[in-house]
Amino acid sequence: MKNRQLFIDKEALATLSLVKEGILSPIDKLMNREEAHEVERTGYYNGVPFPFPFIIAPIGEKNNEVLTSTQKGEILDFVVDGEIRGSIEVNEVFKVDKQRRIRQIFGRYDENDPEIQLFLKRLGDYALTGEYQLDFNDIKIAKQTIKEAKERVNPKCTASIMLSAKPFHRAHERLIRITLEKTDLLVIFLLKPYKQDVLAYKLRLKTLQYFVDNYLPKNRVVIVPFENTYIFAGYNNAVLDSICAYNFGCNKLVLGQNHSGIGMYYDKNEIRSILDKYKSLEIQVEIITEFVYCNECKTLVSKNTCPHGQHHHIKYNSKSLMQLLKAGLLPPAVLMRKDISAILLSEMFPDRFENIQEIYDSIFPNKGLLESHDEKDFYLELMNLHQTMSLT
Ligand SMILES: [Zn+2]
Repeated sequence: MKNRQLFIDKEALATLSLVKEGILSPIDKLMNREEAHEVERTGYYNGVPFPFPFIIAPIGEKNNEVLTSTQKGEILDFVVDGEIRGSIEVNEVFKVDKQRRIRQIFGRYDENDPEIQLFLKRLGDYALTGEYQLDFNDIKIAKQTIKEAKERVNPKCTASIMLSAKPFHRAHERLIRITLEKTDLLVIFLLKPYKQDVLAYKLRLKTLQYFVDNYLPKNRVVIVPFENTYIFAGYNNAVLDSICAYNFGCNKLVLGQNHSGIGMYYDKNEIRSILDKYKSLEIQVEIITEFVYCNECKTLVSKNTCPHGQHHHIKYNSKSLMQLLKAGLLPPAVLMRKDISAILLSEMFPDRFENIQEIYDSIFPNKGLLESHDEKDFYLELMNLHQTMSLT
């Protein structure tokens, strides 16, 4: 007889897999009603801090029908985009208090917040627990990549950073270099989106990989995808990131000051953060102050080490950089490395010029030979011209 089906999305599949692979340890299974209640009350699970209960509550009428009629011991299939990707042996089904769940994850309940709206769209009325199996290998592969790098480098310290690299800019480069300075191995977790994105994951990976391959000692750096699912949406994000980085085998996590979920505040002249509550986490968390370009210092500086004040500072604002790129403009080289911009623009606007060779031959200096060029070369040459200082 065929199993009845539960319909879940990719994000839920990846989240279930994070637990299955031990990445959210000490969470090792879906919590039942009693365990969920305990975590809500104490903020601890098995003696280790954990910010909210780990449950799954798939939404939808069909799911509701199954969940309200199932019995302990029934096997249900997980169906993702029409494909069976796992199964669960039902142990218990219980009602979810949606408002409370939102508060635990986001720290507030605001129906107008778009992130919360998105979360509500996927949060059903009933949660279920039970042993489950999955057909999903991405996290296994990421674990394996880190394991192999550690065997190769044999590091005393493995540091990590989380990046969305949207787009990859000079302040990211600095953050990476500073981190690499003090570690043997650096793991860069590249955040995988679950929403439509102008800058696809593949393209962001391409730019980051290009930088690592060309400008860093590449055997000491690995890039792995990070399943940045809905559980990381809220204000516990930095805590969860720390737990995940630790379980992936890192002993240090470096976060930018602006990382969502750090919740910086000053107390008796000392910077404190929400992370202080989680001091028992066995990972060193380092928070780095924001980098800016100072037009007096003529370089990237941390706000702590430059005396010139805000009016001399150029900020690395990802949103604004994305606006330039989306408009097809070449970002200034002080903000983004020109070869990175060239990769991005040539892929975001393929074949945008009718006769690129003609423009190429007429405005760029050339050796008088017939050379063929792609669009990436075009942006690089254009930047060279932009940076030509005479007649400006
Ligand atoms: Zn300065």
